[in-house]
Amino acid sequence: MIVAILGAGPAGMSCANACLSFGLTPVVIEQSGEIGGIQHGNFHPNLWLLGAPGETGREMSERMARHFVALPLTCLRHSRVTAVHGAAGNFTLELETPAGKQSLAAGAIVLATGTHPRDTPELAAMAENTERVIVGPLSETIRDDIRQARVLILGGGDNALDHALFLAERGNQVRVCTRRVFSARQPFQDACQANPSIELRDRCTPDSLHIDDEDARIVAAWGPIKVRYDWLLVMFGYLPNTGVLATFEPVLRPTLSASGHVVVDAWQRTSITGIYAAGDVTETPQPSVPTALAQGLVAARAAERDASAILIPD
Ligand SMILES: Cc1cc2nc3c(=O)[nH]c(=O)nc-3n(C[C@H](O)[C@H](O)[C@H](O)COP(=O)(O)OP(=O)(O)OC[C@H]3O[C@@H](n4cnc5c(N)ncnc54)[C@H](O)[C@@H]3O)c2cc1C
Repeated sequence: MIVAILGAGPAGMSCANACLSFGLTPVVIEQSGEIGGIQHGNFHPNLWLLGAPGETGREMSERMARHFVALPLTCLRHSRVTAVHGAAGNFTLELETPAGKQSLAAGAIVLATGTHPRDTPELAAMAENTERVIVGPLSETIRDDIRQARVLILGGGDNALDHALFLAERGNQVRVCTRRVFSARQPFQDACQANPSIELRDRCTPDSLHIDDEDARIVAAWGPIKVRYDWLLVMFGYLPNTGVLATFEPVLRPTLSASGHVVVDAWQRTSITGIYAAGDVTETPQPSVPTALAQGLVAARAAERDASAILIPD
C-alpha cells in the first residue's frame, strides 16, 4: 500500500523509514527544497535528543537527511498537493511537482507538515520590507550580525527570553515586551532579570511600529514616547501548517483543536479513517524531535495495522 506523507521533517522522515520496515510504500511530498524540517535552520545544540551531545539542530537534521535520502523511496521536493479526494484505501492526491502535474493513488495519508512562526499581517509586511525585522527565532542574522545594537523583542515565551540572553551576551541592549505576562521557563526569567542589558516589560505592546524611511531603523511608540531600535525580533510562537487541508475534499478534512492543531488518538489517527498526523502539526504536549520521530513511527504502524481492515472490510 502506498502511504502519502506530507512533509520531510523528523516526523515525515521517521514515518517513511518505518513504512519501509512495515512493508508499506512511502511517497514523501515536501514543499521546500530541503529535507530535515525546521531544525535545518537551528544552530543551537539539540538538548533533547539522546545520543549525540553537542550536535546542533542543523547537524542532526543533516544526519537524518543523509539516512533518509539513501532509503529506497520516492521523495518529491518542491512539490505541493492541490487536491485530495477518495476514501481510505483509495485516496487520490493531485500534485504539482517540478516535473509537472501528476496524480498519486494512496491507501493512507500522513500529515507531517509541522509549524511556522506566528506573526501579524503588519509585522509580516514590515519583515518583507526590511531585514531589520525578523519573524521567528532561527535566523543566521541573529546569530552573526546583531552586535552592539538596540533590539526590541516582542513575545514572552522561551524563544523570546532565550534570544534576549543570547543577544545580551553579544553586547546588545535588549528590551523584551509581552502583551500579557511572561510565560518563559523560570530560569530564563531569572537570568534576564539579573542581566543589566535586558529590560523585561509585561503588558507593554507598542501602540505603533514603523520603519524610519531615512535610516531603516524601527520606531516604536508607547503613547507619546518614541524609541528607536536597530532590530525588531518577533517571537510569537508557532502555528500548525494545516493550510493544505483546504485542498482536501471537505469530508476528508480532519478535526482540528481550538489551537488549530490536528487532533489525533494514541495511534496518530485523525478523525478521518486512513488519514494520520504526526509531529508538531498535532496537538502535542512536548513538541520536539524525539517526539516527532516517535509519532512518525506510530503513524506508520497504525497505517499498516489499519490497512487490512480498510482494504478487506468484514
Ligand atoms: C527555535 C526552535 C528550537 C527548537 N529546539 C529544539 C531542540 O533543541 N530539540 C528538539 O528536540 N526540538 C526542538 N525544537 C522542536 C523541533 O524542531 C520540532 O518539534 C520538530 O522539528 C517537529 O518535526 P516535524 O517533522 O513535525 O515538523 P518540521 O520540522 O516543521 O517539518 C515539517 C516539514 O513539512 C514541510 N511542509 C509544510 N507544509 C507542507 C505542505 N503543505 N506540503 C508538503 N510539505 C510541507 C516543511 O517544509 C517541513 O520540511 C525546536 C523548535 C524551534 C522552533
